[in-house]
Amino acid sequence: MKSFLLGALLLAGAVRDVRAQQYQIPLVDIRSVDPTIIVDLRYASPNNITGRPIYPPGTRALIRPEVAQRLTIAQRFVRRFDCSLKIWDAYRPRDAQLALWKASPKNDFVANPDAGAGSLHSWGLAVDATLADRYGQSMSMPTEFDDFTPAAMWKYTGTNEIIRHHLAMLQTAMRDAGFYGIRSEWWHFTSQDWQQLMPAEEAKRAVQAFSQAEQDQRKL
Ligand SMILES: [Zn+2]
Repeated sequence: MKSFLLGALLLAGAVRDVRAQQYQIPLVDIRSVDPTIIVDLRYASPNNITGRPIYPPGTRALIRPEVAQRLTIAQRFVRRFDCSLKIWDAYRPRDAQLALWKASPKNDFVANPDAGAGSLHSWGLAVDATLADRYGQSMSMPTEFDDFTPAAMWKYTGTNEIIRHHLAMLQTAMRDAGFYGIRSEWWHFTSQDWQQLMPAEEAKRAVQAFSQAEQDQRKL
C-alpha cells in the first residue's frame, strides 16, 4: 500500500514535470537584445509581496525573442523622452509561479500555475514594466509593483497629472510596440501575438481559462 501511494505520488509529480518541461521555450536575455533597458527583477530580491527572493541570485530577465523585439520598439519610443523601460519581471518559471501563488495574499490576482496554461509569464510572453528616468530611478506611477488594490487599475483615476502623464507614456510605448494591458495591473503587458507563440493545445487551454479575464482585458 505504501509503495502504491509512493508510486502514485511520484507519478503525479512526474506528470507535472513532464507538462512543465514538455515544451522547449526559446528565451533570450532582454539585456543582450537591448542593453539600455533597465532590469530590476523584484522576485530576485526580498522587495516583493512574499518578502523573500523567489529567484536565485543573478537571475537574468529572460523573454521570448519575439517579445524582446517588441520591447526594443517600446524602449526606442521612451528614450526619445530621456526615459527607459524598467523590467520588474519577465519569464517566470512554473515553480516560481507556484511559490508566488501560494504566498500571494489574494490569489485571484496571481494565476494558479496548474489552471489552464498557467501564467503567460511562464511562457515568456508577458512582462511587468515601469519607467525609469535618466538616472535609472523609477518614475512616479499610480502604485508600487504588485499592489493588488483598485489603485493599480489600468485606467488611472487619480488626480496627479504627473502620474497620469508617466502612465500614458508607458502605455502608449507598449501599445505601439504590440502589447496588451490588463484591467487590474498597470505594470503588466502581454505580447499581442501570444496565442501564436504557444503550442496550439496550450493556447486553447489558456483561452478557456482566461475567457472571463479576457472580457475584462482592454486593448491598449
Ligand atoms: Zn505580470
